[in-house]
Amino acid sequence: MPEELALHGGPPVRSSLLPYGRHNLEDDDVAAVLESLRGGWLTTGPTIGRLERAVAERVGARHAVAVSSGTAALHAAVFAAGIGPGDEVIAPPLTFAATTNVVLYQGGLPVFADVRADTLTLDPADVERRLTPRTRAVIAVDYAGQPCDLDALRGLTRRRGLVLIEDAAHALGAEYHGRPLGALADLTTWSFHPVKHVTTGEGGMITTDDAGLAARCARFRNHGIATDAAEREARGDWFYEMTDLGFNYRLTDLQCALGLAQLAKLDRFLQRRRAVAERYRAALDDLAALSLPAVAPDVSHAWHLFPVLLQLERLSADRRTVFSALRAEGIGVNVHYIPVYWHPYYQRLGYEKGLCPRAEAVYERLLTLPLFPAMNERDVDDVVRAVRKVVGHFAR
Ligand SMILES: *Cc1c(COP(=O)(O)O)cnc(C)c1O
Repeated sequence: MPEELALHGGPPVRSSLLPYGRHNLEDDDVAAVLESLRGGWLTTGPTIGRLERAVAERVGARHAVAVSSGTAALHAAVFAAGIGPGDEVIAPPLTFAATTNVVLYQGGLPVFADVRADTLTLDPADVERRLTPRTRAVIAVDYAGQPCDLDALRGLTRRRGLVLIEDAAHALGAEYHGRPLGALADLTTWSFHPVKHVTTGEGGMITTDDAGLAARCARFRNHGIATDAAEREARGDWFYEMTDLGFNYRLTDLQCALGLAQLAKLDRFLQRRRAVAERYRAALDDLAALSLPAVAPDVSHAWHLFPVLLQLERLSADRRTVFSALRAEGIGVNVHYIPVYWHPYYQRLGYEKGLCPRAEAVYERLLTLPLFPAMNERDVDDVVRAVRKVVGHFAR
């Protein structure tokens, strides 16, 4: 007898909802923040440089600039790349809207290129097709934690004199052809939001090997002012100049103290994410109605997300129904992402549906399974049990 779905009144696999992602805070994280609070600097103090150096070292980049969010990091990168009115920036639609919102912030025009059918990262061949004389930059996303096609994208952007920005919000700790992500694009941006690999509450970082780009990002986070308060104090001077229109995108010392404590655990967090992803693969691989995420050869995936694709022709239910059935079982599935230009704001700007058919078709079939380092064996078993129960129920 098949079990009755919770959606239809049967007993759920779990009584409390398992979220799709969640931060992992331990006693030493809390202690680090308390110590920072007692240390005299709340913001623009020495902890910021310490986190910047630690991240730069971890990702193999010469420079790192800490900012107040991953969105601020993208905004600073687009500013540093010199994007302004009339400039086109190519990016994938299968991402969080911030990836292209920052182009709009600077008066530029996002141009969407489709994703690869297998890895769901930006398709370099489609980027090539969307180039115009006004193209200035490409923003690629390491979707779900898998590195984008860096060799092809770097080749293309160098040939055309474009800036390559990598939105690596999903991919802290990932590697491409044996090298960590961090300085493989001109500018790489990170997010420390609670669902990401390490958190500072809110926070972000730009890493780069280019000293000039790093200096532009550092000015941008501080109103476009060339020196910060600590430097002025050290010089005993009041004079400063605002040379660009920047923002207050500073990260506080307490957040950086949390970031340092978290970063020390990145390897353990990554290991756990990879172990959960492997468990899912082993336990769900035989379900014909489900496609598991494809991983390109010679990359090390950071597994921010575990997105599965429903084979709708093998199911008697659509994604909405499968989603609701899993939620009813206590599994906090999610969908990453609604194609950015489908959002009403982008529709009002004049973007039409149909621009990127692969991303649109994939969106109708996507489901993200829970994946975060604090998941225990029971949690993983619950997800597997619920997915098998629901997909089994609707399979035909
Ligand atoms: C999280 C995320 C961002 C934005 O980061 P915030 O820190 O939330 O501002 C940008 N791009 C992608 C792909 C993300 O997942």
